[in-house]
Amino acid sequence: MMRVAVLGSTGSIGVSTLDVLARHPERFEVTALAAATNDGRLLEQCLRHRPRVAVLQSPESACRLDAALRVAGSPVEVRCGAEALAACAAGADVDAVMAAIVGAAGLPSTLAAARAGKRVLLANKESLVLAGPLLIESARAGGATLIPIDSEHNAIFQCLPAGLETGRPARGVRRILLTASGGPFLRTPLERMVGVTPEEACAHPRWSMGRKISVDSATLMNKGLELIEACLLFGMEPDRIEVVVHPQSIVHSLVEYVDGSILAQLGNPDMRTPIAHALGWPERIASGVQSLDLAAAARLDFEAPDLARFPALRLARSVAEAGGTAPAVLNAANEVAVAGFLGGRLGFLGIPRLIEAVLARHDNGSADGLAAVLEADRWARELAEAMLAETAVART
Ligand code: NAD
Ligand code: MG
Repeated sequence: MMRVAVLGSTGSIGVSTLDVLARHPERFEVTALAAATNDGRLLEQCLRHRPRVAVLQSPESACRLDAALRVAGSPVEVRCGAEALAACAAGADVDAVMAAIVGAAGLPSTLAAARAGKRVLLANKESLVLAGPLLIESARAGGATLIPIDSEHNAIFQCLPAGLETGRPARGVRRILLTASGGPFLRTPLERMVGVTPEEACAHPRWSMGRKISVDSATLMNKGLELIEACLLFGMEPDRIEVVVHPQSIVHSLVEYVDGSILAQLGNPDMRTPIAHALGWPERIASGVQSLDLAAAARLDFEAPDLARFPALRLARSVAEAGGTAPAVLNAANEVAVAGFLGGRLGFLGIPRLIEAVLARHDNGSADGLAAVLEADRWARELAEAMLAETAVART
């Protein structure tokens, strides 16, 4: 029996994870669920999946959850706060941790799971972008196994030889081809992109996801973060990772070997496939995802990304090359910019502009220690917030 903690259980990845887990009651036991504030959904999940503990970040939500569970006669223990979350990720009664919290907020619990030697199912790409070398080193020291959940990285993991150590390159690989759907504005002219709304940005043509990653997909910053993520996970230089737009989202990424062979992983765009792969690995387990009908799909198109309309990708590539604390700064400025856009304080094209302005003021440094990356994260957030408050940037 594998005992699983699902962190970010009320979100898009969390819900898909619980769907896969519930298909295999003989194989998995849900021991912990964690979310930020959504006590209503967490209550339903607690009653259905019967974890030992449930963690929320807001004290009011935790009180409400506790009261509702007591009324329902449920024995689930309710805890609150970031320390409880990290303790739950490292708990002795947990074998695998689904790290599916959105943003840098997911770093402490992901690190705790890595240090404690868990199987870490890594959806929270921001923690890797923020503190990649540290997270990988912690996993190595703790004896943890990191399995990527991001569909592209999970596809690459499946196409690489078995038995690789995280962060170490595979022999015989020439390059990685990272596919991108192109998001909702793939064909939108620049003049139209100026005024797009959060609702338009969150209406992704292929994937149903949380709002932050949906906006990242619309700016292509998601692909930028994924480029950095791929460099770290697979020990590759950025110039050996090519982004290719593939609007159908059927080929989830490809690995090219030195003999010219290219291996790809294909499937319907449904996150339950990478989730089931990572939960069952090295075995294969059912995910509930339908078979891919290739004849119905009919076409697989590929094209180069347009860096003029999607500057976020260019910014992320330069940051991947620079390394150090630059990725932490990019990630923090992006989180502030996306929240600004979703809150109506920043135009869509202002997102990459704000990130570029913050990066221009950053003196790059070593990202070896947690203190250095957290300081870079704090500095970038403060500067981005200050710039966001200036109407000059905010009105674009
Ligand atoms: P979401 O917004 O739907 O869910 C986020 C979850 O995190 C929620 O359960 C929320 O309560 C929780 N959370 C937020 N802040 C928290 C905090 N401070 N402490 C504890 N919990 C907190 O997001 P999502 O789409 O499920 O994405 C989650 C992560 O997975 C992101 O890092 C995203 O980039 C990555 N990812 C998502 C997809 C997808 O298809 N949704 C695909 C690839 C990668
Ligand atoms: Mg992805």
